[in-house]
Amino acid sequence: MSIIRTQEEAFTTQVQVLVVGAGACGMTAALAASEQGAEVLVLERDVKPTGSTSLSSGLIPAAGTRWQQEKGIEDHPKLFAEDIQQKAKGKADQDLVRLTTESSGPCLEWLADQHGIPFEILEGFLYPGHNRLRMHAVPEHTGSALLLRLYQSVQQRGIPVLCEATVSDLFVDEDQKVQGVRVLRPDGSIESIGCQALILACNGYGGNPEFLKRFIPELEGMNYFGHTGNQGDAVRWGEALGVELRDMSAYQGHGSVAHPHGVLITWALMMEGGIQVNLEANRFSNEHQGYSEQSVAVFNQSEHLAWNLYDARLHQLGMEFEDYRNAEQMGAVRTTPDLENFSKITSLQHSSLKQTFLDLADFQQGKRPDPFGRDFTGKLLLEPPYHAVQVSCALFHTQGGLAVNPHAQVVLKDGESHPNLYAGGGAAQGVSGPAVWGYLSGNGLLTAVTLGRIAGENAAIRIRVPLN
Ligand SMILES: Cc1cc2nc3c(=O)[nH]c(=O)nc-3n(C[C@H](O)[C@H](O)[C@H](O)COP(=O)(O)OP(=O)(O)OC[C@H]3O[C@@H](n4cnc5c(N)ncnc54)[C@H](O)[C@@H]3O)c2cc1C
Repeated sequence: MSIIRTQEEAFTTQVQVLVVGAGACGMTAALAASEQGAEVLVLERDVKPTGSTSLSSGLIPAAGTRWQQEKGIEDHPKLFAEDIQQKAKGKADQDLVRLTTESSGPCLEWLADQHGIPFEILEGFLYPGHNRLRMHAVPEHTGSALLLRLYQSVQQRGIPVLCEATVSDLFVDEDQKVQGVRVLRPDGSIESIGCQALILACNGYGGNPEFLKRFIPELEGMNYFGHTGNQGDAVRWGEALGVELRDMSAYQGHGSVAHPHGVLITWALMMEGGIQVNLEANRFSNEHQGYSEQSVAVFNQSEHLAWNLYDARLHQLGMEFEDYRNAEQMGAVRTTPDLENFSKITSLQHSSLKQTFLDLADFQQGKRPDPFGRDFTGKLLLEPPYHAVQVSCALFHTQGGLAVNPHAQVVLKDGESHPNLYAGGGAAQGVSGPAVWGYLSGNGLLTAVTLGRIAGENAAIRIRVPLN
């Protein structure tokens, strides 16, 4: 993986806009560039497009959309931006926050109107830190369905997606301008494809232990739950070209992955009344702060494990999510008619568990505050029959990456914008500040689709009219 300096490489093929990576960002970028009249080719290392996008819940936050208006939800990009900054303690890149929040609604409406991707609002609960219902999903409510629909739209536009094509190197000229890429095929053959603009949509470095050790050493020992093909190639090329890297210690973690089944258990359970206890049957955090930082909280418990405890009402809520239904089928969800039997299905000590539930009643009645700061007053208490899932924690994806300008062009260390290199999604810097606690639910797909669209459009437009 490197940069090859070249004057005149004899490229096997030549296209106008090349996209590396066929996840949500790459697909969106391809649609946008093609719509602007550019000839586009998407290169994907896997046999078929999946990426972290397919592993995700597919929930994309956007503000001021028509789907919100239809439900009477008043929202605005400014409110969305405030929520992002509140979660990131004001440390998210302000320009990028403004760009992505303002682009979010128009981007989803464009995907719906121009490319036939249907969206609907996810109702029923707010994810931590969101003050409005603004999570949009395709009808299936899964990331795999989102990516499949994007892929179908790309195919309908006649945009080729070349799979089993791993981009290994970039060819650049003496002015650092990208001339093309070198591609490795599974049979060992090598191709070189020329381009006028290159979009890096190959996500972050979650699948690269060396980079994790370097940029986020606190993650040592934590499982990675994202796509293993995300090896930090954008970072590697960016560093070699002198691109500014930002927020490299930021990441999205999750503190609710069914153990040992390895299936995401929706955080909606916690937001609507569920609690987490450790193996000693004690709560250990404010579950409402966010599922990302909860990864660290769970990691710090004995055996890096916890139990999600909730009731039948919340079980029904969970059943609205495909992952949860899968977890139930796999036997991860345990049920008990009463508190007495809880210990039998969880091995949690009865006396400690009983005390935890007595504490909850006190917090709910306002007799004393929760020492972790969660507000239980006026909320429904958990009622029998109870449900429980043993969970562990995981890294979902990294949030740091290549600095980008408002046109999604990468920015060099000297502050200049690169002439024809673009980045979006997990390859670019995120809007989560510098640490795990800054991740507001949906920040991942937010930058994937908005920066993808902006990169695609600008790459195509600037080929016609080179603006800098
Ligand atoms: C379990 C889970 C749940 C999540 N849920 C949500 C959610 O509900 N909402 C949300 O906003 N975010 C969510 N996320 C995060 C979200 O999945 C990512 O932020 C998003 O998918 C990033 O999109 P992307 O297009 O940048 O990357 P990806 O979808 O990962 O696509 C990158 C592609 O690039 C390819 N690639 C990499 N290197 C090369 C190379 N050298 N050559 C060719 N191809 C290459 C990869 O194979 C991959 O297909 C979740 C993540 C996980 C793991």
